[in-house]
Amino acid sequence: MTKYPTILLFGAPGSGKGTQGKMLGTLPGYKHISCGDVFRSMDPNSEIGRVFLQYSSRGELVPDDFTIRLWREHIDKLVTIGAFKPETTILLLDGIPRNVAQARMLEPHIDVIKLIVLRADHNREEMIRRLKSRALKENRLDDANEQTIRRRLEIYEAESKPVIEYYPKHLRVEVDAIQKPIEVAHDIISAILGRTNELHAIEPVAAAAI
Ligand code: AMP
Repeated sequence: MTKYPTILLFGAPGSGKGTQGKMLGTLPGYKHISCGDVFRSMDPNSEIGRVFLQYSSRGELVPDDFTIRLWREHIDKLVTIGAFKPETTILLLDGIPRNVAQARMLEPHIDVIKLIVLRADHNREEMIRRLKSRALKENRLDDANEQTIRRRLEIYEAESKPVIEYYPKHLRVEVDAIQKPIEVAHDIISAILGRTNELHAIEPVAAAAI
C-alpha cells in the first residue's frame, strides 16, 4: 500500500489550523482534510453523528478506533470520486492525529514530510477568545462554554502535545500562531518551500495542469 505524502497542521484548539488548512488547501496540489469537519459533516442522528456529539460536546476526543476508521473511509471515498489524487497531491491534515495512539495507527497510511506546529500557548487568553467568537459564528457546541474550552485545552496539553515528539525533529517547523492569518500563512508556505526539498520532487504545482 502506498503512503500518502502528508503535512500535518498541528496546534491547540483556537490556534488557527482550520483557517490555515482551508487557505492552503486551495493551492493546486494540496488537499486539506480536517478531521473535525469530517465529523461535523455527519448526520447528527446517525450513529457516528451521535457518538461525535456525545464526546465533542464535553470537549473530549472521540475514541481512536472509531476516528481512524471514519478518516480512512472518508479518504477512500475522496479517492474513489477523484476529489483526492494521491499521485499528485499532498495531504494537509488538520486535527489528526490527536494522540500518539492515532499517530501509530496512521503510520501505514501516511508519510509525514512536515509537521507544522502552530504555537499559541504563550497567549492562552487569545485562544479562548478566538474559540468563543467561533462558537457564536459557527454554532459549535464544543466551544460554547468556557468549561468545555478549558477541557479541550487540557486534553491538547495531555494527549495531543506528545504527538509533536513522536515525529522526527527535523520534520518540525514552529510557527507563531498569534499573528495575522496572512502572516501565519506566509510562515507556513516559507517553511514548506524553503525546507522541504522532497516536496519539489512531487511537484505539486504541476498537478494544476492535470
Ligand atoms: P476540531 O474541529 O479539530 O477542533 O475537533 C472538534 C472535536 O471533534 C474534538 O473536540 C473532538 O471531539 C473531535 N475530534 C476531531 N478530530 C479528532 C481526532 N483526531 N480524534 C478524536 N476526536 C476528534
